[in-house]
Amino acid sequence: MKNDCIFCAMAAGEIPCFKIREDGDVIACLDINPFSRGHTLVIPKRHSTGLLDTDDATLAAVIADVKKIAAHLKEKLGADGFNVLQNNGAAAGQSVSHLHFHIIPRRNGDPLVFENGKGDMEELKALADAIRM
Ligand code: AMP
Ligand code: ZN
Repeated sequence: MKNDCIFCAMAAGEIPCFKIREDGDVIACLDINPFSRGHTLVIPKRHSTGLLDTDDATLAAVIADVKKIAAHLKEKLGADGFNVLQNNGAAAGQSVSHLHFHIIPRRNGDPLVFENGKGDMEELKALADAIRM
């Protein structure tokens, strides 16, 4: 665990998040400033910064979870598709320096926006309760 890392603190349960799944290695929680309804972050518990400094076993565990969670979100939210996004470095728009994959559910006809919205905390709580795995 890295001091001052918000995702390490979330993974350790030290600060709250809208968690929808937890297994041995990984947590998944709703993004508080979602690109779309159900925008989820899949976060390995062990700290690494991005793709290049993460060991292959951890990457394999995380991407397997991304697949499971994406299928679940698609079904529960009636999404038609989804984006998987993973940013590396400030130049690529990474704002939290702890590896994470975004799953962004998409519906036919929605605007294809890659921009943070402003999350409503009550709605996020209700959504997390509704789709928890
Ligand atoms: P990135 O730009 O790839 O580093 O994405 C970081 C994401 O984390 C952004 O979409 C933020 O909205 C999201 N985020 C930051 N703090 C929190 C938090 N406490 N709980 C959930 N999502 C967060
Ligand atoms: Zn961390």
